[in-house]
Amino acid sequence: MPVGTQGTVKAVPQDTLESLGAQIILGNTYHLYLRPGHEAIRRMGGLHKFISWPHALLTDSGGFQVFSLNELRKVTDDGVHFRSHLDGSSHFFTPEHSIEVQIALGADVCMAFDECTEYPANRPRAEESLRLTMAWARRSLDHFRAHSQEVPWHELVAPASRPAVVRASTPAPEAHQTQSLFGIVQGGMYRDLRRQCAESLVEMDFDGYAIGGLSVGEPRELTLEMIAATLPLLPRDKPRYVMGVGYPDEIEQYARMGVDMMDCVLPTRAARHGLLFTSEGRLNIKNKQYAEDPSPPDPACDCMVCRRYSRAYLRHLMQSSEALSGTLNTIHNLAFYLGIMRRVRESLASASGNADPKS
Ligand SMILES: [Zn+2]
Repeated sequence: MPVGTQGTVKAVPQDTLESLGAQIILGNTYHLYLRPGHEAIRRMGGLHKFISWPHALLTDSGGFQVFSLNELRKVTDDGVHFRSHLDGSSHFFTPEHSIEVQIALGADVCMAFDECTEYPANRPRAEESLRLTMAWARRSLDHFRAHSQEVPWHELVAPASRPAVVRASTPAPEAHQTQSLFGIVQGGMYRDLRRQCAESLVEMDFDGYAIGGLSVGEPRELTLEMIAATLPLLPRDKPRYVMGVGYPDEIEQYARMGVDMMDCVLPTRAARHGLLFTSEGRLNIKNKQYAEDPSPPDPACDCMVCRRYSRAYLRHLMQSSEALSGTLNTIHNLAFYLGIMRRVRESLASASGNADPKS
């Protein structure tokens, strides 16, 4: 999932995302809550309408952003007090409030409010954090079930128009035509805590499950170990989502292990800093060696940028701080990432004899 923090995948218009084959994008609850505000988005008919994205959307719970505001937050059993990074104003997020905001935004997939355990975290700290995450998962689910019909598009949706990932997770077609809620497995880097969390969440019966608290500074082998240990504990017939990963080779590896969904700011953020992911490895377009290089960013890529522009031109745009620079770099990186996932889907589909790799 390309990340669209503020209701936009930075520098890329929605029709371009469509032509790149993006099926779902992610919006950040914390940012949209602060600006323009979830009630304003509800009045505009929800996030799909507001940003003109008639495809699948996922919103995070706001937890991760709030927890990265180290100096500006205070955690209690009830929720998190924090100050806005925009104007310093005070806010209080509880699991109920996070769900209320996500219902107003109206994404297809909402996430339970969790505490992202930092790395490194010792055992008592990881246990305490897990206790909060599990209590908050229960409260998120209860509030979601009691209020899910309040989503702005509740009565408008037709079963067939819902994205496959959501349809697969919602068994009763017209009884519950609304959003899906995913639980998030935490537990730091402790396999037994991850197991305890996964088992409790599965017992609660969420529509899908995420593995969170990874890619927070731990070595890559540990990320892999935690995914490998947790994935088999989550139901195969519901979406399994690893949050906040990763580099191109990682997302391919995780997808082949059975991960269905991932999100990462890497392809878009790196692009704006001039880092391109290519079939030949990473390429820093700012380097002087590309100043008069007429070749495309990635000779093996057939995206609209590689078909048309040279490394020399992309370097020039970057050096001149032209707005087009971020746009073109991001389009290529997204094409590269989405291409990896498309090839994985196709190879899984041909291995299982499924003719439609999208399903
Ligand atoms: Zn390209």
